Formats: sequence, structure tokens, C-alpha cells
Amino acid sequence: MTFSAALDVLLSGAPPCADALAALIACGDTDAPSLYAAADQVRVATVGNEVHLRGLLEFSNTCRRNCDYCGLRRDNARVERYRLTPDEIIATACEAEKLGFPSLVMQSGEDLWFTGPRLAEIIRAIKGKTSLAITLSVGERDEADYRLWREAGADRYLLRIETTDPELFRRIHPDDDLEGRKACLLTLKRLGYQLGSGVMVGLPGQTPAALARDVLWLLDLGAEMLGVGPFIPHPETPLADAAGGTFDQALRLVAVLRLAFPYAHIPATTAMASLDPLGREKALQAGANVVMPAVTPTDRRALYALYPGKICLDDNARKCRGCIEARIRAIGRSVATGPGHVIRR
Ligand code: SF4
Repeated sequence: MTFSAALDVLLSGAPPCADALAALIACGDTDAPSLYAAADQVRVATVGNEVHLRGLLEFSNTCRRNCDYCGLRRDNARVERYRLTPDEIIATACEAEKLGFPSLVMQSGEDLWFTGPRLAEIIRAIKGKTSLAITLSVGERDEADYRLWREAGADRYLLRIETTDPELFRRIHPDDDLEGRKACLLTLKRLGYQLGSGVMVGLPGQTPAALARDVLWLLDLGAEMLGVGPFIPHPETPLADAAGGTFDQALRLVAVLRLAFPYAHIPATTAMASLDPLGREKALQAGANVVMPAVTPTDRRALYALYPGKICLDDNARKCRGCIEARIRAIGRSVATGPGHVIRR
């Protein structure tokens, strides 16, 4: 399918097809500006000019899993592990609210020290002391834990599927199971979480057709927040020597996701900004409407290294908040003040 025919399909309002999605994902440099402009126009018409800030609190880099692309994988003995105490987490959350974040993303490796009840208690404490909207991103757990956290007040959950290609998923997740992850996402949806997922782009052997199937699967799932992470090889992982994904691949996917999910929340991810100094701005001008600056204590930031070259490691939460706001205003956008819940139509 030609680029312009594919763009017409996505702009028609009809359900997108795999061919059109793949044609846009694979578009060349000549067509890419038209893709970004179309996504930007859809973003203005649907979610508007406001950019939602979520404070990202990376509270533990301990992980039971061994994902082949991730610097926090269990077998990476060279990473110094940390785990914030419940009191540190609660204090950091309160600080984030004082800095003007209406929403907090609590992220960690799959760290079972945080049992269901223990994390529920932390969530309840934060909800009791603040009016923060809380997003959890702590991986695959059983339904009982997801239920406890939801009942404790967690509003949203992020769990990236990474890829729906069974063979590719198996190759990069030696101790994980695609069907299990899909089941987790369905459980989270049933429990009433605002649901975030997303994909990694530029994985070895990944094709535009495979990414198009990912987008269709995310549509079927009804994902409401969509993150795109370029694959950035980490030197202490089995994929250290693989070719990484590129910023342009990730940007095309952000734009395609905006066309396919007009009302979703789509972040300009830190990983994209790590590949291009203006990565956040470019993503915000190609469909994205969310930024997640870290509020993680500065002395732990470098230890949360999912991938190398991560930016803002020496900054504190106040500086990050100020820097991001200035960047958002510099491109003519405003910072949202509300919690930024998903838009359901
Ligand atoms: S991607 Fe997540 S689950 Fe996999 S090793 Fe890294 S932190 Fe653990």
C-alpha cells in the first residue's frame, strides 16, 4: 500500500488494517514529516494542547526476571541493587506532589519483597496523604495482588507487552511467557485499572508487519495509554552486540499510535530523549501528550539503568520538573494541572 493510501485509511476513522499500519511504520524520510503532521493534528483535535506530567518514582531495581534486553535483569551481577523503604517511597511521593506533579508512576523491577499487602499499604498511605493519581508499573503479578492494589487506590497500571510476536517474545524473554503477560493485561482491565501497555521498537528481527500486528492487538485489548521504547542495547546483557532501534523508528510508531488511538495518553519517553537531545519535543509534536520526569532520589537514578545512556541522572526532581515545563512551553504547549485520567468515549 502506498504511504498516502495508508494515511487515508488511518484518517478515515475506519478500523485500521495491518497493511496500512505497516506502510506507515515503514515510511521513508520523505513521507515521515506528513505522518508526524497528521498525528499532531489528530492530537490537537482529540487530547488538545495540554501535556500531562507524571512523576516517575523508580523505587526498586531488584528483579526476578531475566529479560535479554534489560540492564536490571537478574543475572546482571554488576548492577548495584537498591530498594527504597516504604517510608522513603511515601516521602518521595509527598515531595512530588509539592513539586506540582498531579500524578505519580511507581515503577520497579519484579521485586517480590513488595508483597501484595506491603505495596497496598504504601499505596493507601500515599492516597491518605496526597491527592496524587497513582500508576503502578511493577510487572507481572497474580490477580490477588492486582486486586489488592486496585482496592488500595491505584488508578492505573502500565505493563508493556513489548511484542506480540510469539517467537520474538520467546527469544528476548527466556523466563517469561507471552500468554501469561497477555493474561495479566486482561486481568488488569477487568479489575478496572486505566490500562497502559506498549511495545519495544527496533528489536532484532522485528518487522513493520510485526509492529502492525502489535498495534492491532493493543486495539483489541483496549489499551488507553501507550508507551514506545526504542531498543537500546545494554552492555551487560545477552543483546549487548545487537543493533539497537533508532529514534526515527520510535517516532514513526508514536505517530502511528496517535492515529490509531486518537484519545489515548502517549508519553514522550525518556528512552527517546536519550537517543535525541530534542527527543521529547519531537515526540510531543508527533502525537505524544505525556512526559514522565523522574522523581527518583538522585543518588539512585543511575542504578535504575534499564538501558545505557539514560539522561538526567544527576538532576533532582525539582530541576527536572522545571526543565520539562520550560521545554513544553517552548514548543507552545501548556502543562496540565489535573490528574490526567484516561479519556473514555
Ligand atoms: S524488563 Fe522489567 S521484568 Fe524484565 S528484567 Fe528488566 S526490570 Fe525485570
